[in-house]
Amino acid sequence: MAPSLAIIGAGMGGLTLAAALHQRGIAARIYEQAPRFVRLGAGIQMSPNAMRVLRGIGLEPRIRATAFQPRSWTNRDWDTGALTNELPLGADAEAKYGAPYLLMHRGDLHEALASCVPSECIALDKKLVELDWRGDGVALRFADGTSARADAVVAADGIHSRVRELWLGAETTNATGRVAYRTTFPAALLQGFAIDQCCKWWGPDRHIVIYYVTSNRDEVYFVTSVPEPEFTVESWSATGDLGDRRSRSPAPLGRRRDGAARRRRASDDAIHGAGRGLGDGGCRRAQPLHRGCARRHAGGLCPLRDGPPRTHRAHPRHLVAEHLHAAAGQSGLGLWL
Ligand SMILES: Cc1cc2nc3c(=O)[nH]c(=O)nc-3n(C[C@H](O)[C@H](O)[C@H](O)COP(=O)(O)OP(=O)(O)OC[C@H]3O[C@@H](n4cnc5c(N)ncnc54)[C@H](O)[C@@H]3O)c2cc1C
Repeated sequence: MAPSLAIIGAGMGGLTLAAALHQRGIAARIYEQAPRFVRLGAGIQMSPNAMRVLRGIGLEPRIRATAFQPRSWTNRDWDTGALTNELPLGADAEAKYGAPYLLMHRGDLHEALASCVPSECIALDKKLVELDWRGDGVALRFADGTSARADAVVAADGIHSRVRELWLGAETTNATGRVAYRTTFPAALLQGFAIDQCCKWWGPDRHIVIYYVTSNRDEVYFVTSVPEPEFTVESWSATGDLGDRRSRSPAPLGRRRDGAARRRRASDDAIHGAGRGLGDGGCRRAQPLHRGCARRHAGGLCPLRDGPPRTHRAHPRHLVAEHLHAAAGQSGLGLWL
């Protein structure tokens, strides 16, 4: 009889693993604590490395159809709009790295991954609380009082991995003292105002990243990282206070606050008996934000080209702010600069 495998967590890592195993005829059962999947308002950058994995599980055509392939990643000064450097990400980069660099909505990626896993292999509303290692496998216990058994278990339960805690003991994560505010909004709300395809705005101690998340450029993602050491709640859905943020910072902020960014202490031991750690849950190294699932971007920055695209040469920060504010204000998302 084929061994049974339990994957804890139906995030990007857990679903990708289950899809890859399913493709090879190996059934794995995922246990996810959330009662349902929701489409979080957030984007994700898929580097060529990550795209090769999606290609391997047959998702490339679907992802290409929905995601946006930017010509480049531009970097700009926060106050003047000056282009400081530009990383090519279009056809040339794709030829060089053998796969595209794509920008997409997290919900679209999650949905695509979930479509590769038979629904009967995903058990929702199953929060793992205990693991009992026996000679003949692993007994799993869930918060709702139910239990299950598997020959092996994979921890794909994120940075606060319960499985990892059960293997390695309680650990603390280190707060970075920074908070990511994010939102997605319909591009129509920009009322024709041109933005870069993918841009990072660099301030002295904070940044904004903004890019399209759909192939037809009808949706925009906005995320920032701001120093806020006193805020320690960690969440993907906590709501920021606009008035509070406005009074403290001139920097651009979105409505959703992704909670305090954290790093897990480096560990050489994310493997235990019949268990394996994956993604943020099994991270063997402390990892900077934006690196967990794809691990690294396609390459280094290239020299400044002849001049910035017209869109921002004529639109320094206050004009960009005006348009983004207007757009997000109409969507009720509370984006402002
Ligand atoms: C603001 C921000 C921007 C980012 N941008 C990028 C980017 O552009 N590109 C990129 O590659 N990466 C990016 N990352 C990193 C990336 O999002 C993570 O590395 C990735 O989501 C980790 O995937 P995972 O499957 O390991 O964990 P998660 O996605 O955290 O999934 C863990 C799953 O396990 C479930 N779970 C947790 N505990 C239990 C339990 N006890 N029982 C059952 N289920 C449980 C959770 O509900 C969740 O569904 C970003 C991160 C942040 C915070």
